[in-house]
Amino acid sequence: MEGLVIKSTGSWYEVLTDEGKTINCRIKGKFRTLDIKTTNPIAVGDRVRVEPEPDQETGLITALHPRKNYIIRKSVNLSKQAQIIAANLDQAFLIVTLASPRTSLGFIDRFLVTAEAYEIPAKLIFNKLDLFSEEGLEILEQYQSIYENAGYPCYSVSAIKETNLDQIRDLLKDKVTLVSGHSGVGKSTLINALLPGKELKTGEISDWSDKGKHTTTFAEMFQLPFGGYLIDTPGIRELGVFDIEKQDLGRLFPEIRKLMGNCRFHNCRHINEPGCAVLEALEKGKLESSRYDSYLSIYHDNETRG
Ligand code: GDP
Ligand code: ZN
Repeated sequence: MEGLVIKSTGSWYEVLTDEGKTINCRIKGKFRTLDIKTTNPIAVGDRVRVEPEPDQETGLITALHPRKNYIIRKSVNLSKQAQIIAANLDQAFLIVTLASPRTSLGFIDRFLVTAEAYEIPAKLIFNKLDLFSEEGLEILEQYQSIYENAGYPCYSVSAIKETNLDQIRDLLKDKVTLVSGHSGVGKSTLINALLPGKELKTGEISDWSDKGKHTTTFAEMFQLPFGGYLIDTPGIRELGVFDIEKQDLGRLFPEIRKLMGNCRFHNCRHINEPGCAVLEALEKGKLESSRYDSYLSIYHDNETRG
């Protein structure tokens, strides 16, 4: 039988089979699914092969189908292991707000770089539209044009007033979507508005607090009543990208990626090189300065991290 992993609690995995049956499964033998060490070989969103046990109530996961993509996080504890959070995502939404609290452009850019590195199409949802004054709406348009120009679709909603939620439902339909955002942006309010009488699908993953203490958090997979799945990652504020090579960073900004082929040097860092097409676009106002600032900031970040 083939199925989708919708929940994982330690050594047990809940698999929704293609026939629509939910079976609790264990993993057969040792399973290594990535080149790096991970605490869990299988995560929500994985497609697996299942052999039912004689009792028919439980099963064994005997194979993992190739992943389209996956997101992982590095642990900060001593074991240096990573954790697979979710797999086979069709898209990632970042919920942002311009007020109470304001999401910084740097935070948005880091999220987008991560999504690019994982090859997951990203979209921005601007929430709390109901709070905007006329001046606020102008700032909203500025923000949205920065990201639309970079190639990221933007949407404005009010989760509380349920404004423009039909647009969001259309985007979610029949897709697996990761929803992310700073705490306070209204992610829970939005999810609840999208899932009236919500059917919770909860998958447990391990989390490490900043002090390296081992705590537990949940990656939750919600089945949408109109088709598709939402994956929420509470407790994971930032999707850490494993190791972005500095020379790859430009490629993770779509608008820089388009320009960099015209740089004089093929290994241009776009920092101070002569004949740099990226710097030229920046000077001419064709590249958004906040996006370039984020490029530099992440570039130098990785330097100090080694
Ligand atoms: P989360 O931390 O991202 O899950 O945010 P919550 O859903 O808990 O919302 C944080 C606060 O923002 C709560 O007080 C919500 O009532 C409020 N909030 C959420 N969505 C909206 C919205 O569309 N408009 C306004 N004005 N407030 C909102
Ligand atoms: Zn360059």
